[in-house]
Amino acid sequence: MNERIEQLKLLPTSTAGSLPKPSWLATPEKLWSPWLVDDEQLPSAKQDALILSLHDQVQAGIDIVSDGEQTRQHFVTTFIEHLDGVDFTNRETVKIRDRYEASVPTVVGAVSRPKSVFVDDAKFLRQQTDKPIKWALPGPMTMVDTLYDAHYKSREKLAWEFAKILNEEAKELASAGVDIVQFDEPAFNVFFDDVDDWGIEALERACEDLSCETGVHICYGYGIEANNNWKKTLGSEWRQYERLFPKLQQSSIDIVSLECQNSHVPMDLIELIRGKKVMVGAIDVATNDIETPEQVADTLRQALQFVDAENLYPCTNCGMTPLSRQVATGKLRALSAGAEIVRSEILGQ
Ligand SMILES: [Zn+2]
Repeated sequence: MNERIEQLKLLPTSTAGSLPKPSWLATPEKLWSPWLVDDEQLPSAKQDALILSLHDQVQAGIDIVSDGEQTRQHFVTTFIEHLDGVDFTNRETVKIRDRYEASVPTVVGAVSRPKSVFVDDAKFLRQQTDKPIKWALPGPMTMVDTLYDAHYKSREKLAWEFAKILNEEAKELASAGVDIVQFDEPAFNVFFDDVDDWGIEALERACEDLSCETGVHICYGYGIEANNNWKKTLGSEWRQYERLFPKLQQSSIDIVSLECQNSHVPMDLIELIRGKKVMVGAIDVATNDIETPEQVADTLRQALQFVDAENLYPCTNCGMTPLSRQVATGKLRALSAGAEIVRSEILGQ
């Protein structure tokens, strides 16, 4: 554990991933939103947006900050765009997470990472702040699920190649001063047999020999229509995590990031990962209603029954890129204020 992480206060707050982009950079409240700035201006515009996003987080009292994913269009595809072996002109329509159709690029040869993808952005963020930084990367299984594979013809083999590439990137991010590398694996909530067979192993391969902390974010997706409709089919109790947690508890991953606010996940499932740090989602990203600090505090108190206070990291359910900046900032403030209520209760005892 490094010094920045050691010095964190009790119940340190963070976000699961993306934050809204300024309206001059990309069309707001939209996933895969196109850039509104020309190619020449784009690099410096992204840096300006990163500074703004950091400022919003700091002002809202967020303890573990991120780039707000200001430099990427999408949490999976932007990483894949930088790899060799993937053809973006040769597209196929696939069903992502068995849920919604999307036109995706094709794997046409051996995949490799000719150069680092986010390391310069991470160095830039490191220059702007002394706070701990969390950096999100897509997980191997979720990457596989966002492509058409005409080369390996095996999800497992392709995931393993991606895991090696992600590990190279994560090592460079850690050297650049990133304190936590988080792998986003929403696909874990869908493909349970794959998780058992190779998903967690591939994730551990991506985390191998990292000098920073490692996390995995497993959610029920952004608040887009396809995900909201899927959630309606899941019944009154969402027990997907129950299938994953025993194996995850045994894994080398340090942190597990979960969706808990307004979701139908029974809180007691968190007991199954006792010993891990848990980023408890206490902010619903699928609604414009801003939680009250007391609602956040309630969710955290419930979670405290199943996770030790020193391992509880209050967080958002998922990324907030589809929300307006005003709503997202309000939610971040509520998260901080709610965490402060519970922090005072614990420390006052
Ligand atoms: Zn998510």
